[in-house]
Amino acid sequence: MAELKHIVGGTVVTSDGPVRADIIVRGDRIAAIMAEAPERDDAKVIDASGLHILPGGVDVHTHFRVPDPRMVEGFDTGSQAALAGGVTTAVEMPQAAPTATTGEVVREKKLLVEQQSRIDIALWGGVVGQPLDDLQDMVDEGVVAMKAFMPASSPAFPHINDATMHEVFEFLSDTDIPFGLHCESDSLLQAGIARLQAAGRTDALAHAESRPALVETEAIHRALFFAEITGGHLYVCHCATPEGLELIRDARARGVWVDVETCPQYLLLDLSDLQAQGPWGRCAPAIRSRDEVEQIWEGVVDGTIDVISSDHAPYTAEEKKPGEENIWDAPLGCNMVQTMYPSVLDEMLNRRDLSISQFAELSATAPARIFGLYPRKGAIQVGSDADLALYDLDRSWTVRGAEMLHRNKWTPFEGKSIGVAAVKTLVRGEVRFDIDAGIIGETGSGKFLARGYGAAG
Ligand SMILES: [Zn+2]
Repeated sequence: MAELKHIVGGTVVTSDGPVRADIIVRGDRIAAIMAEAPERDDAKVIDASGLHILPGGVDVHTHFRVPDPRMVEGFDTGSQAALAGGVTTAVEMPQAAPTATTGEVVREKKLLVEQQSRIDIALWGGVVGQPLDDLQDMVDEGVVAMKAFMPASSPAFPHINDATMHEVFEFLSDTDIPFGLHCESDSLLQAGIARLQAAGRTDALAHAESRPALVETEAIHRALFFAEITGGHLYVCHCATPEGLELIRDARARGVWVDVETCPQYLLLDLSDLQAQGPWGRCAPAIRSRDEVEQIWEGVVDGTIDVISSDHAPYTAEEKKPGEENIWDAPLGCNMVQTMYPSVLDEMLNRRDLSISQFAELSATAPARIFGLYPRKGAIQVGSDADLALYDLDRSWTVRGAEMLHRNKWTPFEGKSIGVAAVKTLVRGEVRFDIDAGIIGETGSGKFLARGYGAAG
């Protein structure tokens, strides 16, 4: 008989709103949701009094960077940080050594998920202009999405040109597989950097000035064009630009299949933070002005934005620090997976009067649906995996990079006060994080999620 657990006394957040209810977990699944669980001697009781129970976060944009001989993050520490931030599923980006661009690399990466991760992980396949047969091989290995860069990123992950973008949208157009694009115009971006560098600028704000909204808006415009003429499924990664959101609204009204995510960097930080944080806040797109941040929030409120993801992108402090002298010397990306959902939930509830159900939609339900993992993931329903994040909405804490569970102990949220905390996180029915006990269980308890998992039995 599968083990029985009763999670009692909590407030369960479903798509219909928060409701006082107990959850019966049998083995790894939710077996029932009821007003009051019956007393049973064989049930282990988890007391959730005073807590809100949310579907475990589904973070569809992580860079745990596996495999990587330098081990700049890895599935083990990355998934520990995820658990402490209420995340139970990640969709891992292709960047690694080697980058995941063939079926063979994906096959090896799947094994590493099961050996090293503590949360469940699905995979993106990388598109770099390789033969379409390689994309088919990755689909056959179970990737849930494809990712490409419009601007030059790194030699290990070359960007694609318009012909490849068109070809791949066509290739994917008879599937529901999202084609995720990092939308920045390469030529506008390179010109902007050259202009600021020629002016002798080395300060943090020069980074933002070098890649203004236009850089992102032009690329979103082009990506929408190819999605529209092919009927493909476009997923706009980390949108930080109100004009980009406006193009997406218009495209949707014409029937274009497009989903869009944003990240905490673009919701909770602005140029004053970039100035203060310097290299620790250097990411791409760049952190925007307060006015633009407020307009991104309007996109959250009106439902234009589907997903909030972390774009967790680890670098060592040694790699980032030279950017304090010269911003161009800092690599692009921030540690984000642990602080993301508590900080966003705090902002939504305590400063913006938004609902906890909307948070559940953005952090779990919508990402699970878009990436084919729903309703096994992203939902508190009978039959769903018992992936649960128990939040205390009155527990304040202060972000300290040194205390984070990811490998590199820095964060652009250093010193930030957050008014809610993930206090217990369950993956498939097992408590894997407790705010007092810490991380529980062994590495390798996570499972690889192949495309189609959401609909599987
Ligand atoms: Zn990314």
